[in-house]
Amino acid sequence: MKRIFGVMLIAFCLTLVSCAPACETNESFAMNTIITQTVYTSNTQVISQNNQIIRDIENKMSKTIPTSDIGKLNHRSGENIAISSETAQVLHCALIAAADTDGAFSPALGGVIDAWGFDTENAHVPDSAELEKLLSSADYRAVQEAAYDANIANAGGALIDLGGAVKGYALDMLAQNLSANNVSSAILSLGGSIYATGKKPDNTSYKIGIRDPYATENDYMAVISTDGVFVSTSGIYERGFTENGKYYHHIIDPKTGFPVENGLAAVTVIADSGIMSDIYSTALFVMGAERGVAFAEAHGADALFLTSDRQIITTAGFAKKYDLQIKGQWQSADNR
Ligand code: ADP
Ligand code: MG
Repeated sequence: MKRIFGVMLIAFCLTLVSCAPACETNESFAMNTIITQTVYTSNTQVISQNNQIIRDIENKMSKTIPTSDIGKLNHRSGENIAISSETAQVLHCALIAAADTDGAFSPALGGVIDAWGFDTENAHVPDSAELEKLLSSADYRAVQEAAYDANIANAGGALIDLGGAVKGYALDMLAQNLSANNVSSAILSLGGSIYATGKKPDNTSYKIGIRDPYATENDYMAVISTDGVFVSTSGIYERGFTENGKYYHHIIDPKTGFPVENGLAAVTVIADSGIMSDIYSTALFVMGAERGVAFAEAHGADALFLTSDRQIITTAGFAKKYDLQIKGQWQSADNR
């Protein structure tokens, strides 16, 4: 119950309310998050295929499933383990991103994240000696994928957590399935990651709401209209707990092992692929607004940062491409 309660939609599909006849909708819970799908198709199989794709990915990449690739890598960390090509691909992307972001995104934080217990009944601030010990074996550079082509990996003494990348990867696989089924209009949401393609039957663009981090789950601070993008948001509200009056969220600074405290409340990234939008939303949150804007601009991603004092900071590309309809007390901090 607590688990489900802790998971909230970052952004929501404003189109779910109206579904034309040749349209399938579905809401489910997997990957520890709520999944919604609206697919304009008369093929009733598409959604069940999508749900199977999501289950397969979860069974391979969830660290809480002992028989998954990640379960096996973590249980026998330090040993070479045969894994599926799909997990090898995601791990490969995550390790490249870790090197590119100078460790801001780290797939080796599994031990530290488990110690916080964000998604469990036992969520608590770990003791500092325990954190220090876990951090010392949370080095992404120790994770080996030398035999990547043969789909062998080695967690190198660390515990792997791909929670910041898997939902985005799943969206990529779902997008492929939509296109294999000739679907030209759909919107899918996996927690904080959204994929929209094509126009709605009334020829208008999909609208994606960006949640106000300081309001309830259905309050959005801006809406973007789009015909085909991957949008991921990392926000302080997604998973977290309060202890002794202080709120602790789930995006970890790999340098300290503590939740990032840099004045940001949420980061939204629009990129060409689901996996990169997902990875970058976490990475840019860790980097902070100043470094994050420069990184996103240099890596072809459009990003929007929301600060705890209700300022909006965007990359130049974001401001140019997306007509942000800002609501409430939010204000643009840049004069680009
Ligand atoms: P969510 O998975 O809730 O949609 P994010 O995409 O922001 O949110 O990813 C956060 C998840 O990524 C955490 O729940 C955790 O599993 C993992 N994580 C936390 N901090 C980091 C980090 N610095 N680098 C990589 N993964 C992280
Ligand atoms: Mg992310």
